[in-house]
Order: sequence, then structure tokens, then C-alpha cells
Amino acid sequence: MMPGYSLDRPTSPDAVERGVLRRQEIEDVGVLDEGSPADLELISRIAAAALKVPITHVSFLDGDRQWVRAAVGIDRMEVPLEDSFCIHAIEAGEMLVVEDAANDVRFAQSKYVTGDPHVRFYAGAPLFTNNQVAIGTLCAIDHSRRCFTAEQRAILNDLAELAMHQIELGRAALVDGLTGSWNRRMLARVATAEFGRSARSGRTFSIAMLDLDHFKQLNDTFGHGAGDDVLVRFTEVIRAHLRPEDWLFRLGGEEFGVLIVHAGVEEASNVIDRIRGALAAEGPVAQTKPVTFSAGVGEHRPGTGEPDTLKSMLERADRALYRAKEAGRDRTVCVETPRFQN
Ligand code: GH3
Ligand code: MG
Ligand code: MG
Repeated sequence: MMPGYSLDRPTSPDAVERGVLRRQEIEDVGVLDEGSPADLELISRIAAAALKVPITHVSFLDGDRQWVRAAVGIDRMEVPLEDSFCIHAIEAGEMLVVEDAANDVRFAQSKYVTGDPHVRFYAGAPLFTNNQVAIGTLCAIDHSRRCFTAEQRAILNDLAELAMHQIELGRAALVDGLTGSWNRRMLARVATAEFGRSARSGRTFSIAMLDLDHFKQLNDTFGHGAGDDVLVRFTEVIRAHLRPEDWLFRLGGEEFGVLIVHAGVEEASNVIDRIRGALAAEGPVAQTKPVTFSAGVGEHRPGTGEPDTLKSMLERADRALYRAKEAGRDRTVCVETPRFQN
């Protein structure tokens, strides 16, 4: 970077804060998770053909790095933010066009201009989420200087919008439409990440299964609409008692899963009982009869030797939930962590 030119980071607290916000939003839409972003590859290919450039890519940027997730003409890679062109488009909140990087004070000394891949022309359109956070860019790059017409700008902007539509569709596929909780597909992703973290750092986590008591009766008496309202209110009460790092999933009908990080069954069951107290105090009341739930809680404790999986954890929690129902409902039952040979 040329002396005299300074990008608004990392010393500016605002820039750091914006980086953190982007990181959260990137995690939320799940674009850095496993799996090939096939639709983003397609969009990169269409952009390259329509704009007649040798290089296009879709990238995401947090406060530290740029991840090239889909590309034509270059490899998928990670770039430190100080070497990034795209951060300028993100910070500006609009398309950045550099018609001749070799004669642009901001970029002339960039290693990507003086060396591989020899960027001379760059155009990058920011990717805005539904929450209006710019989390990345769709870019077109050429090895020689060129002009970018209004028509070409419109194509790049439209394709950037299309990429964001695809990404938001992916996010919507992980959320339950009624309660806004995460769904089972998201549980599978979160559990995979949590098992990995647990294996690396030895941290315990717990999963609780919560099932509303006599919910069918409530539906039959007050109607499905009233039942829906109870489901929504129930999730609001649960969320109010979870930490930001914990997770709430709707597993089906009136059954929910809570993943509590960094907590064994004892701590997790305390959390569930706080939810129970809050539901009794401020939850929905179906004609003087308070709405209650039963819960089963199990933990994953690394190092105990058991070949644990999400499936086996859910089976344990489900068995405990069954016992809570059998014992009279409106209670929490914890399962012992199985200990195999070690
Ligand atoms: P238990 O205490 O044993 O759990 O009894 P229950 O009546 O809660 O359990 P059961 O499994 O017999 O009934 C669950 C009911 O949940 C039946 C179904 O109509 C209702 N349900 C499932 N999904 C929804 C939904 O999205 N909205 C509403 N209002 N009801 C739902
Ligand atoms: Mg039930
Ligand atoms: Mg049920």
C-alpha cells in the first residue's frame, strides 16, 4: 500500500466493529461452512462470460481476512485484509471500479498488481445480506486496463444481487418459519462444529430436548391458531434465558432442542429449570391452566471414550424426556453420561 494512503482499519474502533458484525453475519448465513457453493461457482462463470474477463470471484470478508469461496481463473484462497481490493468496495458500500490499478495510488504497489495474478482492471460489487450488512463481493478482474460500461456495471450488480438471493435462500432453509428458531438441518451443522471443538479443546456441551405437555389437548380446546401462539411465546421465553452462544432448534411439532455450550448436564438442567420457572411466571396461560413442558438432558463429555454422535446424544436426551413424561410431566430428567472403556 502506498504511503499516505491509509485504509480505515485496524486502529479505528468503527472498522473493527464493522469487521465483527460482518463475521457474525457470515456465520449466520453459513457461507464459510463445508460444502461446495455450486450456485456461487455458476454465478462466477456467468459473470466471467458476460463481462469477458479472465478472472471472477465471490469472496467474503470479516475483520481479518478475505475468503475467496468461488472463482474463475484463480484458486479458492484466503487473503489478509490489508492486501484486499474488496474491502474498499465493502467499506464504501457500493461498487468499486478500478480501471487501471497500475495508475491508482491505492493499488499500484499491491503485490497482486505487480505480481501474480497481475490485476490491472478490477470491479467489485458488494454483497448485502437482508440485514443490510455487506459481507463480501462479486468481482471481475482483467490483466489489462479497460473501461467498464454502464451496461457491464448493471450486469455485475444484478449478479451480485442474485448471489445474495441464493445465500439468503440457504439461510432460510435453516430456520423454522413459525418460531424463527433454527431447524434440524442447522442442528446437524452446529453439532458437527461443536463435536470438533470439543475434541480439540476438551469442552463439554449438553443437549436438552423440551416437549410441551398435553399440547394436543390445548390445540383441540383452543384451536390451532392459539397453539401456534403458544409455540411462539414458548420460544421467546426459552431465548430470553439462553446465552448468545447457545442454540435453540425446533425439532418438530411442539418439540425443541437446546444446545448449551461449555456446560454439563447439571448446569444445563439449571438453565432448563430457569426456563420452566419463567414459563410458569410469564408464559402463556390456557384458561387458568399454565402451559408446561417436560425435558430430557444429556451431555457430551470428551475423553470418556464413548463414540458419541448427535444421533446418540439425541437418543439419550429422548429417553430422559420419555422418563420425565412417565414420571408425571412438568419436570427435567438428566441422563448419566455413558462411560465405555477408556
Ligand atoms: P405429551 O404431553 O405426551 O407430549 O402430549 P402432547 O399432546 O403434547 O403430544 P402429542 O404428540 O400427542 O401431540 C402433539 C400435538 O402437537 C399434535 C399436533 O397437532 C400438535 N402440533 C404439531 N405441530 C404443530 C404446530 O405447528 N402448530 C400447532 N398449533 N400444533 C402443532
Ligand atoms: Mg407434547
Ligand atoms: Mg411431542
